[in-house]
Amino acid sequence: MSSARKPDWLKSRPPSGREFAGIRETLRERNLHTVCEEANCPNLGECWSGGAGTGESEGGTATFMLMGDRCSRACNFCDVETGGMEPLDPDEPANVADAIAEIGLDYVVLTSVDRDDLPDQGAGHFAETIREIKERHPGILVEVLIPDFQGEERLVRKIIDADPDVIAHNVETVERLQFPVRDRRAGYEQSLSVLEQVDRESDIYTKTSIMLGHGEYDHEVYQTLADCRERGVDVVTLGQYLRPSMDHLEVRRYDHPDKYETWRRVAEEELGFLYCASGPMVRSSYKAGELFVDAVLR
Ligand code: SF4
Ligand code: SF4
Repeated sequence: MSSARKPDWLKSRPPSGREFAGIRETLRERNLHTVCEEANCPNLGECWSGGAGTGESEGGTATFMLMGDRCSRACNFCDVETGGMEPLDPDEPANVADAIAEIGLDYVVLTSVDRDDLPDQGAGHFAETIREIKERHPGILVEVLIPDFQGEERLVRKIIDADPDVIAHNVETVERLQFPVRDRRAGYEQSLSVLEQVDRESDIYTKTSIMLGHGEYDHEVYQTLADCRERGVDVVTLGQYLRPSMDHLEVRRYDHPDKYETWRRVAEEELGFLYCASGPMVRSSYKAGELFVDAVLR
């Protein structure tokens, strides 16, 4: 079943509780941002209260957003502010590492806004944060969701050299809808190339995400999954696009959870992804630690 009216299965739990307040305070004290808050993620209540972490950590899961809360790009689905870029905070890598210890995470997800305004587009700062975390917390698993770095291989290589456990980069949608969904500087082939480079140059697991609900056809979703697999992507997530405000792209379709389960089976059983997290409320980092540990380490 599909429809264009927001269905009941998209109700989310509002953020509350001790863990939520504690994480928020730790982030504020250290001037850190999370994509959970900046993107108004519908899973915030669940993740920050400990429901979507690795299952071993008391403090839940949070996805740190590096390099500020303003992006140099303007994707039409995204709630992050555009423009007015601030200088990088040189203390941020250490502050993130400290916050991880305080919150008590054993699987951390780092992402960032795009920083096309910087000479290295922020790749060095991103890499330094990974190294800082790995040095201070040996054994912690680090997943990074990186920008496309405009397809510059030397910049992607900086991230590979910092040796995170998972490198994710999102194709976001099917080829036909890249624009209007994404900023014009992004692109389907550019994103696939980033993922392919990581697969070619390292043993690091690769991951991507696709939003459903922008008007894509099933055969286009299938083709996108197949293209990602062909470029060596190991893990994929599929989730429902939710419109952050009336200024953003409208939702063209809501698919029933059963449809997501079908995509999961197609991705895992037919196309050979290591695992696929698929559901209306799934986001790139949803249960990232739990699923990675289950699929890869057990
Ligand atoms: Fe944060 Fe990811 Fe959970 Fe959303 S799914 S609240 S971005 S950790
Ligand atoms: Fe949002 Fe696009 Fe910037 Fe990513 S690149 S933070 S999706 S505006």
